[in-house]
Amino acid sequence: MFIDNRGKEWPLEEAKQCVGPGWGSLIERLWEYFKGREVQVNQIKEKFGGLRFYVANATDLDYMEIDQAEKDSFATCEECGEPGKPRINGWIKTLCDRHAREHEERWRAGQNFIS
Ligand SMILES: [Zn+2]
Repeated sequence: MFIDNRGKEWPLEEAKQCVGPGWGSLIERLWEYFKGREVQVNQIKEKFGGLRFYVANATDLDYMEIDQAEKDSFATCEECGEPGKPRINGWIKTLCDRHAREHEERWRAGQNFIS
């Protein structure tokens, strides 16, 4: 199970809310992996289009598992979990084609609104 940096259990549902819904399965996978023991998770976030999962007391094997999930995030749409890739557009976000279009449109609308 996940333990926060104050030593309290960090429920899976709360941990999943740190990133977009499309990456819920990646968090679940790590949660399953750490089932039956405690791992201190300091932070879960998205950075430069990828999942970042920071732990305190992990083994080399644990880090391999975490690395794999972080790598997989670059091929998984953060919005819906479909296959995706990092998109650079004033921001970097890993998205499927559909969500990349939606973000692009929203971004353009925002730009027009400002000017
Ligand atoms: Zn998507």
